[in-house]
Amino acid sequence: MTSQSQIRKIIHIDMDAFYASVEQLDHPELKNQPLAVGGSEKRGVVAAASYEARKFGVRSAMSGMQAKKLCPDLIFVKPRFDRYKEVSKKIRAIFNQYTDLVEPLSLDEAYLDVTLNKKGNPSATLIAQEIRAQIFNELNLKASAGISINKFVAKIASDFNKPNGQKTVAPEEVESFVASLDVRKFHGIGKVTAEKMYQMGIFTGVDLKNQSLATLEDHFGKSGVRFYELSRGIDHNPVIPDRIRKSLAAEHTFENNLASEIYMLEQLKGITTEVSKRLKNQNTAGKTITLKIKYSDFNIQTRSKTLDDYTLNYDVIYQTVKTLLLSNELNNSVRLLGISISNLNNTTTPKNDNVSSQLSFKF
Ligand SMILES: [Mg+2]
Repeated sequence: MTSQSQIRKIIHIDMDAFYASVEQLDHPELKNQPLAVGGSEKRGVVAAASYEARKFGVRSAMSGMQAKKLCPDLIFVKPRFDRYKEVSKKIRAIFNQYTDLVEPLSLDEAYLDVTLNKKGNPSATLIAQEIRAQIFNELNLKASAGISINKFVAKIASDFNKPNGQKTVAPEEVESFVASLDVRKFHGIGKVTAEKMYQMGIFTGVDLKNQSLATLEDHFGKSGVRFYELSRGIDHNPVIPDRIRKSLAAEHTFENNLASEIYMLEQLKGITTEVSKRLKNQNTAGKTITLKIKYSDFNIQTRSKTLDDYTLNYDVIYQTVKTLLLSNELNNSVRLLGISISNLNNTTTPKNDNVSSQLSFKF
């Protein structure tokens, strides 16, 4: 049995002016030229602009007409998505040399979880550097990276030293980093929400953090909890590789925080029913059972046990989570309980070597 709340190491990699850079790579005569991928015709839209074009204010999603006005020498090329996909695949192959936990967001962006990685490198900062160097050496393309403890902060950080740069927000820097951010930079806060926040006097992360959870839930409904967490630099969303199902989970947030294990066990019965039903529906079974405990202070603890045999049986799962719950004292009252089953019999778990050498913490 393991009890862990390990700090994760997440990298967000974003290729610089990806489509335009691929065009410049394939057509050397376009190098160092102001270039727009997209249409120049009446309704044409710029899909991507080279950095030379950006100097003139040309941006993606801008109309071709407007772009041409800003930069009369702008060269337009038609997009070749098959080619971008092909290059994207090569970039993905480089990522996979470091970790299998790669979640692509688009052809030119991905999250990588390198907490445990195939190189046994404890420094996410150095891994990001290495990956960017490898992309440049093998593909002649430039990338930027953000490195932090979660997807939310890593993604914002990758914008900071763009192009061809990277930024690490170490665990102890996360809170102050988020505090100083304009809420309009928060991913997950759209234009309308940001405007509403501005009207409430919420301009930056620290303004957001100063709001009570009740106020945020009042004004923003379900998203209130998410904003409450983000303003504290908390984002538990995992890096989900290629949407291959590796685990199955169910969880429940309580209306009132629970302090008594007796009530928690009652709740766990319902959650177990849900999980066991889902396993049945997916025609699968799993060996590792994880109990997730989210405390009222939003800290999360997970407790796992790996069984000898695959199971989808209600009694087996319930007895296991019951044992896990009672195995250790709780730190606080509990806001949410969840059960997840991993090590499923329909997938193979990615191997991460050199795990022991990575226990020392380095960012
Ligand atoms: Mg990009």
